[in-house]
Parts: sequence; structure tokens; C-alpha cells
Amino acid sequence: MKPPAACAGDALDTAAPCSEVNYLRWDLSAQQIGELTVELIEQTKRVYDQVGSQKFEDVSYESTLKALADAEVSYTVQRNILDFPQHVSPSKDIRTASTEADKKLSEFDVEMSMRQDVYQRIVWLQEKIQKDSLRPEAVRYLERLIKLGRRNGLHLPKDTQEKIKSIKKKLSLLCIDFNKNLNEDTTFLPLTREELGGLPEDFLNSLEKAGDDKLKVTLKYPHYFPLLKKCHVPETRRKVEEAFNCRCKQENCAILRELVTLRAQKSSLLGFSTHADYVLEMNMAKSSQVVATFLDELAQKLKPLGEQERAVILELKKAECEKRGLDFDGRINAWDMRYYMNQVEETRYSVDQNLLKEYFPMQVVTKGLLSIYQELLGLTFNLEENATVWHEDVKLYCVRDSASGKVIGKFYLDLYPREGKYGHAACFGLQPGCLRQDGSRQIAIAAMVANFTKPTPDAPSLLQHDEVETYFHEFGHVMHQLCSQAEFAMFSGTHVERDFVEAPSQMLENWVWEKEPLLRMSQHYRTGDTIPQELLDKLIKSRQANTGLFNLRQIVLAKVDQALHTQTSADPAEEYARLCQEILGVPATPGTNMPATFGHLAGGYDAQYYGYLWSEVYSMDMFHTRFKQEGVLNGKVGMDYRSCILRPGGSQDASVMLKLFLGRDPKQDAFLLSKGLQVDSSEPPAC
Ligand SMILES: [Zn+2]
Repeated sequence: MKPPAACAGDALDTAAPCSEVNYLRWDLSAQQIGELTVELIEQTKRVYDQVGSQKFEDVSYESTLKALADAEVSYTVQRNILDFPQHVSPSKDIRTASTEADKKLSEFDVEMSMRQDVYQRIVWLQEKIQKDSLRPEAVRYLERLIKLGRRNGLHLPKDTQEKIKSIKKKLSLLCIDFNKNLNEDTTFLPLTREELGGLPEDFLNSLEKAGDDKLKVTLKYPHYFPLLKKCHVPETRRKVEEAFNCRCKQENCAILRELVTLRAQKSSLLGFSTHADYVLEMNMAKSSQVVATFLDELAQKLKPLGEQERAVILELKKAECEKRGLDFDGRINAWDMRYYMNQVEETRYSVDQNLLKEYFPMQVVTKGLLSIYQELLGLTFNLEENATVWHEDVKLYCVRDSASGKVIGKFYLDLYPREGKYGHAACFGLQPGCLRQDGSRQIAIAAMVANFTKPTPDAPSLLQHDEVETYFHEFGHVMHQLCSQAEFAMFSGTHVERDFVEAPSQMLENWVWEKEPLLRMSQHYRTGDTIPQELLDKLIKSRQANTGLFNLRQIVLAKVDQALHTQTSADPAEEYARLCQEILGVPATPGTNMPATFGHLAGGYDAQYYGYLWSEVYSMDMFHTRFKQEGVLNGKVGMDYRSCILRPGGSQDASVMLKLFLGRDPKQDAFLLSKGLQVDSSEPPAC
């Protein structure tokens, strides 16, 4: 298909002169973090006071919208300097100070979001101003501020506003604590080499000692996932899976109940029947009913596939029990899932993950990944030597638009686990790419934080293929942050609809399943050989392995999240157990409480976890309609993608961007096919 005309030839850089300054700093002491927090609050409050105390007849675009937007730019950067260290600083004192700062600033955010005096002046401006005197993005900003004001109840009676404000403050503190508890969890299990049977030697050698003959297995990803996949001692898997899903059980279970209740109360004060409906109003899906239908239909379609796959892994289990002389209990337990799903990959698809990872040393993967992104998106990356960073493992890169040579942003890579560090993989926007007060463009800066397998004394860091996929995914978010050219910080980078935000990063995951890119990001760490053709073919085929069970599990998680935010009386652990049994056919381990470890519920994805599956509809459509047709390394499509999908940030609705890039409205076909499902051509286009 021909690229849509509206994308082609678009200039990628706005006329505004660009300031290349990195305003971030990582040298603050715990005490300075505290002091600067107070200062930042005072300084920002002064702007709000000024805006809110103007006489109505003095209200103008400059004195109101621009003043608030300018304050937001510097506030966002300063806030990130103060609150990001809680996730990454090697010093516990600094992490604690940073968490405290985050709490204070979150409370302040609530205060500012509830400023009725400011809101009234924006409403006044909207009534008075000629819309066509504003640039389109400024109109969007104006409308968004009014919408957000109403979503905070600023049009409601004062006592209702007070109630909302107090709930919002409690909510933000509870969310910070929920995730803090998980990050700071240091639970480990001391296990013998015998108990760790089946795990490769390099894994065992990487473990710290715990006493004479025991090794320390933590519950961090690089320990948990390989163990659940490879350890052939069921009792060990059971213990570790149980411990993993009991992390922070007591404290987070209590927090979760309170979160759910408070969210429902707030939504009800605002006139919504459920918290999900309140949240979804701002998303592509619009209502909890639409989400429920999407998930139910998908679950229905995937069910037969899931049943087939479960039967296959049950057979594998039976055979393994016979081989090892173990009792066969006739069912798949939660701690069996990953183990036998991995066996499916190894036996049915003959992909040996331990052999495969020898072709994915971190350095080669990084080099390949960076070169693919540079080529595809017309960018040039340069490592900044001796950059100031927060830990010696961290690297900083400068990003230029290749055509113009202009710096468009920078990114940090922080790839290995450390104690107290954020436990998942994520991209943090640190300096929004947007216009500054003087009209110059501020470069965008983001950090990718992950927990990949560390190097050992005898081998470099060797990545599992799914780690390579995570790497591509998170880096997709980084590119979204850097390539967006919004005017307002509010619309910069990944500030798009939450059920679209994963689409750009998911789309780039496709590259780790395609021959050409795979060859570019792999090389045997000892021999320097490329991946043998046969292994490569097998790997690519194995993408279809376990799709039923994998996606049904995503549906379970999405439905737990929806259930908690539509029926407040639902008990999280019970609801999770019920859905696991019903949808996945695999019971949750008794005594565990997976929802208490489900960071998304307190990390801005409340009632929105479905967004991972929902945005895959778009990521698959974009990939198959354009890249797969015109070439996965086709720079022309890459540039269209950069200008239609990444460049607008949140300054346009996702549906508009998609239509531009696809040349039509999105369809579910590619998504369903990628899940191994049939496409019924009589179905109307969904979503
Ligand atoms: Zn993501």
C-alpha cells in the first residue's frame, strides 16, 4: 500500500530554535532533595496564586494558559530530578528522601489540580477567547484543562471538592507505598544445588552464597523467571512461586482494599457509576462495557486454543513425572505453567533457550538494537563519554535527527538489577520535549530502566530471547518520548490515551521475530558465529508457542483489574483465583495473593491493564499493513511512522494518527491472526 500523502514529506522539526541543555542532575544529597522539594513547591505555587488571583477582565492566554504551561515545563523537570532517584539511586538514604519528596509533591499536585480559582479563570478564558486566535494545540490544551477541572469536580459544591481532594491525597500516598514495598522487598530463599536441579551452571554460579551449601535465590526477575522455567524440582518451583505471589501480602493487600474503596468513592462523587467508567472516559475504549465486551470476545475465541495447549502440557507433565519417578497429580499447577510452557518451546519447537542466549550477549544486542532504531527512524545515536549518571552501570546517549544533524534528545540506559532498584522494565520520561517559556524547543530526555541478566565471572550478560523482546519494547517507549514534537509538556512523548500508549513499543517487538533484524542483533559470545539458520527458523516459528495460555493469562489480569474497579466488594485474591480457574484452567496457589504484587494496580494502570491487549490491535495492524508489506527495515515507512505516530505525542487523538499512518481505520484482523485465530471477514471492524 502507498503511504498516505499527509505523512509524506512532513518536516520533522518545528521552526523553533532548539536548546540542547540537559537540565537534569543526579548529584543531590538526601538533604538537598528535601530542601529543593520545598523550594519547588513554593516557586510553583506562586504561579498558581498569580493566575488564580487575576481580575477576570485581565485574563488572557498569556496570563493564564501560557503561564501554567511554562510553569509545568520547569516543574516537570525539577520534579523528576527529585522523585526519580527513589527508583534507581544506589543509596538507600537518597531513595528514602526521594520517596518522601514524591509524597510531598504528589500532595502538592493534588492541591494544584484542585485550584478552583485557577479553573474559573480558564473557563472564563474559554468563553471569551476567539478559538481561531489560538494554535490548534493550544485549543486542545485549553479544552483539556477544563476537562481535567471537571474530572476533579471543580464545578461541584465546595464540600464535595474538599472530599475529593482528601481522597486524591490519600490515593497518591497509597500508590507510592504499594510500589515502594515491592521494590524494597528483599525476600530470598536459600536453596541447595540439588533443589535447583535443571538450572544451567552459569545461573548457579551467578548466585550469592547463603551459608555452607546453599545459594541465595531472590524474587527479582532474573532469578524468578529462569527458575520457574528450568528448575525440574517441582517442590522448589512451588516454594518460589508461592513466595513470589506472597510478596508484601500483608501490607499491600490492605493498601489495595483501601485504594479500591477510595477510587469508587471519588468516582461516585463525580457522578460515575464505577471507577472504571471514570478512568475509561479518557481512553479510546470510553466505557467499562466496551472493555468487558472486548475481553470476553477475545477470551471466547482463545478458549479452544488454551484448552489444546493445556492438554499438551499436561501430557508433557505426565511424561516428565514418569521419567523422574514423581507422583502425577493430573493437573497443571501455577508453578508448573512456565516450566511446561518452556518445554513446549524446547520440544515442540526445538528452541533451546540456553543455547539461544549464547547468541544474545548484551553488547551485541544493544549494538544491533540501536542500529536498527537509528536506521528505521532516521536518527543518529552517540554515547556520551563521562556523562554524570546515578550509577556506574548507566550510559547516556545523545540523539540527533540524521537529516538535519539537530539534537532531538538524550536517553539513559540502566539495564541491570541492584538492591532497592525498580524491579520491572520501564521507560521514565525525565525532561519533556516541548516548548520552553522563550519559545525554544527543549530536548526530550528519557531513561530506560530494566533488570536484565547480569554478567558472570566467566561470561558476559547473555540475554534470554524474551529479555531481548523486553529491550525492544521499552526502547520503543524511549523513542516515543524522544521523537514527539509537541508544544505543551502535557502532550509530550507518551502522554497519549493509556490504551494506545503500548502500541508503539509493542510494534517494535515484532523486530525480534524477523530474520534480518535478528541476525543484526546476535552473535555467539565465544565463537562470534551467527545464529544457525535452523535455530533461527525454529525461533521464529516458536512465536506461536503458548499464545493461547499466554493471552488468556493477560485476560485474567485485565479482568481482575476491571472487576476490582467495577465491583468494590470483590476480594482481590478470590477474584484472581476464580478467574484463573475459569479462564486459564489453572488454579492460583492457595494462600498467595497475586493482586498484592500487581504493581500496575497502583502504577497508573488502574482499570487500564486491558490496554496491553487493546493496543496490540493497533501495533499488529501498523506492523502488518505497512512494515511487513514494505519491508521491516524500510526507512521510508520508518519515517512515516515517526511523523504520523511518534511525532504528535498526545497532541492528536490516537484514532487520527492511526488513520493517517494506515490510510484507513484500524482493523482487528492482524491482531487475531497473530494469536493464531481465524479472522471472520463478516465481522465489523472492532475498537
Ligand atoms: Zn510498555
